[in-house]
Parts: sequence; structure tokens; C-alpha cells
Amino acid sequence: MPMNLAKWIRHFGMTNRLDRPEPEWDLPLALDEKKRTALAATLAQYQLGDGGGPCRLIARDAERLRAADEEVRKVIDLWFAEEAEHSRLLAGAVRRLGGTFVEDSFAFRLFNRSRRTFGAQFEMKVLLIVEIVSTAYYRLIRKHCGDLPVRQMCRLILRDEAGHIAFHRERLSACHPEGVSWHWTTAFFLLGAACAGFLWMSHGRWLRPLGVSACDLFSLCRQGLAHFHRRLPSSSKRKSRQHLPGKKKESRSIIFREGRVPFPMPSIFTHILENELPASFVHRDEVVAAFLDIQPLTPGHTLVVPVREVASLSDLPPEILTHVTALGQEIGSAIRAADPSVTGINWLLCDGRDAGQEVPHIHLHVIPRRKGDGLRFAGKCATAGRADLDDWAARIATGLGR
Ligand code: 5GP
Repeated sequence: MPMNLAKWIRHFGMTNRLDRPEPEWDLPLALDEKKRTALAATLAQYQLGDGGGPCRLIARDAERLRAADEEVRKVIDLWFAEEAEHSRLLAGAVRRLGGTFVEDSFAFRLFNRSRRTFGAQFEMKVLLIVEIVSTAYYRLIRKHCGDLPVRQMCRLILRDEAGHIAFHRERLSACHPEGVSWHWTTAFFLLGAACAGFLWMSHGRWLRPLGVSACDLFSLCRQGLAHFHRRLPSSSKRKSRQHLPGKKKESRSIIFREGRVPFPMPSIFTHILENELPASFVHRDEVVAAFLDIQPLTPGHTLVVPVREVASLSDLPPEILTHVTALGQEIGSAIRAADPSVTGINWLLCDGRDAGQEVPHIHLHVIPRRKGDGLRFAGKCATAGRADLDDWAARIATGLGR
């Protein structure tokens, strides 16, 4: 199955833009002076690197990559649009903390030069590593900053970084269906260690007064790198996949291959279930989970999703379907109990594109209904003759083997 770029275009271009409350920049500031100046300085410096500089691929062969394919161009541009948004958020934090913006630095020039010089493939690898190391950085800032708006900002950026990392994982799984090589792995960990070391060298003096130690940073970076690497197809699994068809790869580019990958790419719901993307959960266990729909048809609209990813209802084992419906029933009752204005519930299950299914991971919509809510599942009913009805009954009964 080729990499599903349309999924990422939808994620970066639409769903991840929803529900992004601006941090409450105007709240009173209650940080002591030492902490305020350290936080302002580290965030000002970070702002330059995280979207503050050239917000696009800058490798010498980047334009060739972008021009090769419309979907690739779109996904890259949308991804960088999120980086630009980080720069805007960080600028808000720097202003709030009374910091001074940084226009240029040695580290920044070195970073850009390495991105430019070694080609787009290397640049993508560097950017991936920066996302993983930045995740560690923002998690530590969120924990130690002691300022609510900065924490709110970190939450937004961390949510984007999770999407970027999941996107890279999928891209690399498509590029290396037979598993990443040992030299890829060595370069990945070495660059990761260098990036974490560089971050501490340039930010340690500001992170220390916040209560962050080098050990905190390195151990989070190590965990992030190891976690990412563990979830790539590994060459040790190569043997068991050798029978798979589609070894021949038509390359979209060296970075986005349109070859077959050894397993289907995870759906957006699988990313949510694996905590790579955020969602508001109401329930989760080993078989089934439920979370709020990001574009609710009515308030409280909930999706019940089997943990095992199958695209079509016919592929869902009946015992799992039983869990899905049982949870759907419980959620319906819980919604009614939570909101007395709910006087009805609709269930909706779209099986197949022509049935309106957008996410190829089967799910049950539980949609609360209120008097006069105006929601309509429009459609004109035909009147069928008895012969037609009997004909259909016979065809379905044959399908059932009756
Ligand atoms: P379908 O049309 O496949 O039956 O429904 C897909 C549903 O998933 C839509 O109602 C859509 O709003 C929801 N959805 C798509 N992406 C996300 C997401 O990233 N998070 C959440 N919570 N819901 C999503």
C-alpha cells in the first residue's frame, strides 16, 4: 500500500487546525526574575530555529522534490506552515516574558548550512531528529516553566510535533519496507546524540535555572529516538516479509516512495489510539476505544473505534463488533444522563467510500440528538413494489446462504 499522503494533507490542512485555543498571553505573570529571563532567552533562541528561519526545505535539490508531485508539494508546504505557526506562538511567549528576539546565531547558521549542503534526504533526516529532540525540549519546558500560557503553547506545539513524527515514521516505513539498514540506524542515533548535545550546549545555561538537568534532557531525547526507531520496520523482520509482492518500487522521489510497504499505513485513528495524535477519550481498553469527533455533527458526537484497524465492516470479527455496539449503547445512555436536553441518539456507521466513509478504520458514530437541532440525514425515499422487495429479499437471502 502506498504512503497515504491524502491522509496527511487532511491532517495538516484541516483536522489539526481545529480546536487550537490561543494561549492566554494576557494572564498576569508571576515568575521570579531569574526564571523569567532564562525562559525568555531560551524561547527566543528556539524561536529562530523552530520556524523562525527559512520555513521550507532548503536543501539544494529541494525544489526538484517539491516539483515532482503535487501531493508531495502540498504535504511539505502544510508541514512547514505548522513550523511557521510555532514561530508565531514562540514569539507570543517571548513578548509576554519581555525577551529580546534573536535574529541570527552561529548554531542557526550551522544548522541551515548542513540542511542546505547534503541534499533533501539528509535534510529530512535532520528535521526528523530535530522534531524528536524538540519534543523532549518542549516537554521539559512545559513541566518546569511555571507559567500557564507557556504551558498552553507547549501543548499546542507538542501536539503538532507528535503529528510530524508520526508522518516521518510512515514516510520512512514506505521508503524502507524491508527495514532500515544498520548504517541508517547508526547515523540516526549519532545525529540524535549530536543534536541533543548541541541543544544542551546552547540552551543549558538557561535550562538549568528552570530546574532542568542535562540528564533530564538526554534521557528524554534517548527515549524519543529509541521509541521512534523501535516502531520502524526493522531489518530483523525482513525475512518474514520476503514473500510479499511489490518488491519493485516506483519512486515518487527518494524521500516519498510509492512502493508497497509491508503492512498497511496506520489510519488517523490508529495514530490517536497510539497516543501519537491527541483526542478527547471517553473510554479505552484493549479491544475498543471511544473519543469525541473533532468535527461534531452535534455536541457530544462520539466515535467508537475498535483498536484493531480494519477498513471494512465485513473484516471486523463479530465478537469485536459486539464490543463496539455494547460500548456505543453505554455511551448513548451516558450522553443522555450527562445532558438532559438530549432526547435521542443516532448511530451511524459508514462502510465504504460511497457510504461516506472517510477514515478507513471502521467506527461507529454516536450522535446525540436534541429537539429542533436541525440535523438531517437527507434522502428521498422511493416506494418499491412487492416484486422488487421480494427480488431483493431473495438476493440477500442467497448472500446469507439461506
Ligand atoms: P467517516 O466519514 O469515516 O464515517 O467519519 C470520520 C469521522 O472522523 C469524521 O466525523 C471526522 O470528523 C472524524 N475525524 C477525522 N479526523 C479526526 C481526528 O483527527 N480526530 C478526531 N477526533 N476525529 C476525526
